[in-house]
Order: sequence, then C-alpha cells, then structure tokens
Amino acid sequence: MKKLPKVKIGGHRYSVSYKPNLARNHEAAGMSCANTLEIILDPDGKKSHINEVFWHEVVEQINYLHELDLPHATISTLGSCLQQVLTDNPKVSKEFSRS
Ligand SMILES: [Zn+2]
Repeated sequence: MKKLPKVKIGGHRYSVSYKPNLARNHEAAGMSCANTLEIILDPDGKKSHINEVFWHEVVEQINYLHELDLPHATISTLGSCLQQVLTDNPKVSKEFSRS
C-alpha cells in the first residue's frame, strides 16, 4: 500500500494510512484519533470521495483539538468545501501557503 505523507494539524503530525474494508467493518470511510495521531482511510471507492473523507477527518481533528464542539453536519460541510477549494485551485493554495 502506498505510503502517504503525514499531515500537521495544530502542533501535531498525524500519520495517514489506508485500511481496506474500513467502511464495511466500522461503518465509516475514515477514522482519526488525537491520541495515536492517526488518520485512517478506506482505500475503496472513488479518489474524490477518499479525498473528501481525508479533509473531513482533518476538520474532525481541528474540531477536537480546539474544542469547537461543531455539529457533525458542519464538520462534513467544511471538509467537503476544503477539499473542493484546494483541489480546484492548486496554484492558489500554493501561492497562499508559502511565506
Ligand atoms: Zn465525522
């Protein structure tokens, strides 16, 4: 399975990995944990959906780390919107993420 880059969220580096059948066995296409600093994704399905699940888990961890207590629908919306903006605007995200 392809090695995925770590993602830094707040002051923490999360490992990102794929786990086949995650959705079938846990009824979720993604999971994340602030204790183990892991994001786990089901590799099955369309790449655009996997990407959306990744950003959903990033927002889940932002929500947890900052104690935002966001409703799950808000987390899903923010994850989906983040994925769309970053995917559709690679030049923009590169330009506005460097110092
Ligand atoms: Zn969620």
